[in-house]
Amino acid sequence: MSLTTNELAEQYKNEKEQIQQTSFALSNSNAELSRMAFQDSLTGLYNVRYMHEYLDRELKRVSRYNGIFSFLMFDIDDFKSINDTYGHQAGDKMLQEIATTALQTIRNTDLLARYGGEEFAVILPETTLELALEIGERLRKNIEALRVDWKNNQLSVTASIGISYYSAEEESLSKNQIIANADAGLYRSKARGKNCISLSKEQTHLPATMGNQHT
Ligand code: GH3
Ligand code: MG
Ligand code: MG
Repeated sequence: MSLTTNELAEQYKNEKEQIQQTSFALSNSNAELSRMAFQDSLTGLYNVRYMHEYLDRELKRVSRYNGIFSFLMFDIDDFKSINDTYGHQAGDKMLQEIATTALQTIRNTDLLARYGGEEFAVILPETTLELALEIGERLRKNIEALRVDWKNNQLSVTASIGISYYSAEEESLSKNQIIANADAGLYRSKARGKNCISLSKEQTHLPATMGNQHT
């Protein structure tokens, strides 16, 4: 069967439209897949996988330009008791509202991720230790002030924070050491009675104004 030029043109147009639709659907589902791969489903924040990638990139950038950045980790205090007293759903709602509060507290150049469970991390690019401590304190206060409505109750929590500071000019640290410093700070905050901010033992000698020369 032979087709007229018009019929051929029509067929070509239909096939082209079909390919365009398929490619549009494919790119949508690719975007959806990468969103799912990097997003925490409960809070909508970036997940720990994305945080690691971002931290790798930040570390490379900072090492190249002899720059600085700070890294913060926080863990909700006695969170198990929220679940035990009010149930898991109350705990979930609390985590969502904590995420919103933290997002409202940090700057839009900072990256907030859910590290896992009731633990979160913030990457603070080009941020001095002094400023990181200030942002951490604001975060601590805002979480303490948060009230979450749950079945005629107003639930509240506090958070313990650990901060780690990195200056490529002063020393060379790996990503794991930077995370470990913040984690050690967090552990010290728990040991000091929770609801506070600490540096790791190795970083306590740093003056709070560390890094000011770079700002
Ligand atoms: P600490 O002050 O020492 O951090 O005490 P904690 O109770 O917060 O710490 P613990 O590690 O004993 O308990 C963490 C709790 O967080 C237990 C776990 O069920 C809860 N949790 C972790 N992820 C989720 C979640 O996605 N939803 C809810 N509802 N709870 C979670
Ligand atoms: Mg906890
Ligand atoms: Mg924990």
